[in-house]
Amino acid sequence: MAFLGGILGRIRRGGRHGAADAAIDPLLNTTLVRRLGQNEGEVVLACEDVEREYEIGAERIRALSGVDLELRRGDLVGLMGRSGSGKTTLLNIIGGLDRPTRGEVTIEGRRIGAMSDDEVTALRRYRIGYIFQSFALLPVLSALENVELPMHIAGVGGSERRRRAEQLLTLVGLGRRMHHRPFELSGGEQQRTAIARALANRPSLILADEPIAELDSVTGLQILKLLMRVRDVENVTVVIATHDPTIHEVSDRTYHIADGRVARVETYEEDQATVA
Ligand code: ADP
Ligand code: MG
Repeated sequence: MAFLGGILGRIRRGGRHGAADAAIDPLLNTTLVRRLGQNEGEVVLACEDVEREYEIGAERIRALSGVDLELRRGDLVGLMGRSGSGKTTLLNIIGGLDRPTRGEVTIEGRRIGAMSDDEVTALRRYRIGYIFQSFALLPVLSALENVELPMHIAGVGGSERRRRAEQLLTLVGLGRRMHHRPFELSGGEQQRTAIARALANRPSLILADEPIAELDSVTGLQILKLLMRVRDVENVTVVIATHDPTIHEVSDRTYHIADGRVARVETYEEDQATVA
């Protein structure tokens, strides 16, 4: 009967998805502050004159033409542009998934172009965390196991792995949802899990490709603010590609991308620095 009593108690409290759990908000009582170009941290990412041409039959498509970027530790920036402007191509090149046809990408002082395939694999595994539009969680694993997976691949031991995964899921506000599988989580909760997973191996750089495109606007803004909080706690550099102007609410700078170029860089004024 104790077992039944437990279940009844759970139902009275609103079940596993009840209101008490939903009230956990990692952003409660935190002040989020933009860094207004005075960031003195070391350069984490530099792109110099990055060009990417695709050849399709006799046709050439120039997806990127001459992109220059310099991001420091703790920068949180937006790459904003319409569909087809080159955002994903740029993230793929920064992340070592694709190679530029001209120009150089340097991460933590090391040129990707000069790295062997094994070195690029190691870079991707240990120095870069990825966040995708569709979350890309493994459905058969719990949130905790999804976050542990990159550490497992990196050879981190069981207890350390678990400790770090629990710490990260607590950071993103999922401390009470760790054992749920993705289908038991809302879209926002799945993206929180994916953010925790991206941080697992303590990367210096987080690359997020359209991370809020599948979320409603309220949840999307929460996710962007959570990325600010994560930047503060983990001291990572965050690049968010999006077509959504909500990015202006959180980014230190926004690089407007049009036709494969940085058309304009928008920086924020002092009086807008604190995010409500
Ligand atoms: P965004 O992410 O901003 O929507 P993309 O980087 O996906 O833009 O695409 C930029 C341009 O490059 C588009 O014109 C697209 O059609 C083209 N493109 C992207 N990937 C490829 C590819 N593998 N082969 C050919 N063209 C591509
Ligand atoms: Mg894209």
